[in-house]
Amino acid sequence: MKLTEEPHRRLNPLTREWVLVSPHRALRPWQGETEKLPPEAQPRYDPSCYLCPGNRRAGGVHNPDYGGTFVFNNDFAALKPDTSRERLDIGGRGLVVAEGEPGICRVICFSPRHDLTLSTMELTDVEGVVRTWTQQFQELGALPEIGHVQIFENRGAMMGASNPHPHSQVWATSSLPEAPAKEFASQTEYSHAHGSCLLCDYTKLELEQEIRIVCENDSFVALVPFWAVWPFEILICSRRHCSTLLELTVQEQSGLASILKQVSSTYDRVFEVPFPYSMGLHQAPTDEAAHPEWHFHAHFYPPLLRSAKVRKFMVGFEMLGTPQRDITAETAAERLRSLCTRAE
Ligand SMILES: [Zn+2]
Ligand SMILES: [Zn+2]
Ligand SMILES: [Zn+2]
Repeated sequence: MKLTEEPHRRLNPLTREWVLVSPHRALRPWQGETEKLPPEAQPRYDPSCYLCPGNRRAGGVHNPDYGGTFVFNNDFAALKPDTSRERLDIGGRGLVVAEGEPGICRVICFSPRHDLTLSTMELTDVEGVVRTWTQQFQELGALPEIGHVQIFENRGAMMGASNPHPHSQVWATSSLPEAPAKEFASQTEYSHAHGSCLLCDYTKLELEQEIRIVCENDSFVALVPFWAVWPFEILICSRRHCSTLLELTVQEQSGLASILKQVSSTYDRVFEVPFPYSMGLHQAPTDEAAHPEWHFHAHFYPPLLRSAKVRKFMVGFEMLGTPQRDITAETAAERLRSLCTRAE
C-alpha cells in the first residue's frame, strides 16, 4: 500500500480509534495562504480584561497586581468540590445513568501582559508557567477526591477562548475523563503485552523514521503523529519515560517550556496569524495507585486547514463515521519542520 497515494485508514494506538486518510485529494500542489487576517494588535494592559492585574472580575473580586503567573478558582466553574458522588440509574437497566462529579476548576494566567502568548513570552517566563502547572498538579492531585488533573489551553476565538489574555485552565475531576481513560487502557494493555511503554516505543520508531518529526531538544520530541486527525496536530513526548510533571528535572522543565514555545511560534508562522489551538498535558491519573505505564505527553489540536480563515470541521462522515483528512501527517510535518528551522 502506498501511504502517499491510496486512501487508507490509520490506527491511533492510544485511543484505538481510526482516521481515514485520502492523500490523493491533496496531491495538488500547496496553494499557500489565500486569505490573511489583519494582525489584531493587543494592548499590554486592557482595562476591560478580567485577567489583567488589578482589574475587577465577575463577583467583584479584584486581581492582585501580579508579576508572573496568577492562579484563581474559576468564577464560573463547571465543577464544584462539594458535589456528592451519588449514582443514579433510573429504571435500573443502565439506560438512564448519572453520577455526581466533584471537581475544581482554576484559571492560570501565564503573564501580567495582555498582549503576549506562549510563542512571544520569554523562555524564562514560560519556565515559570511550567513550574506553576507542576505546583497545581501536585496540590490538586494530592486531594483525596481528585482522580485526574487536566491542564489545558484554549487559544483564539475560533477555539472558543473568551479572552486573548494568555492563560490556561486546570480542571481536576474525581473520575478519569474520556480521552485519558482510553489512553490509560491502551497504555496499560500495551505494557502488559510487550513489557515496554507504548509511547517510549512509538517515539523511538518516529525518531528512526524522522519524517514526522517537527522539532526536538534534549528532553522532548514534537511530532505529527501517524494517526493525526487535525491538519497540523502535534504530539509532544518526553524522551525519558516519566508519568507526570512531578518527575521532570529542572532541565526537563526547561526543555518542556522551550518546545512549547517553539511549537506555538512555528504554528504562528504557518498562516502568519496567531494560530488557534487547544493544547493539553496528559498525565497519569491521581488516584491512590501508581501508574508507571503512563507516559507524559502533550497534544496540540489546531483547527486551521488552508488559511487563517479556513478551518477543518468535523461534520458529515466525520460526525457519523470516522474522522478524515486529505493532507497526510507526513506532508504537514514537512511544512511545520521547514517553518520551525527557519526560526532558528
Ligand atoms: Zn488582560
Ligand atoms: Zn514511556
Ligand atoms: Zn494523550
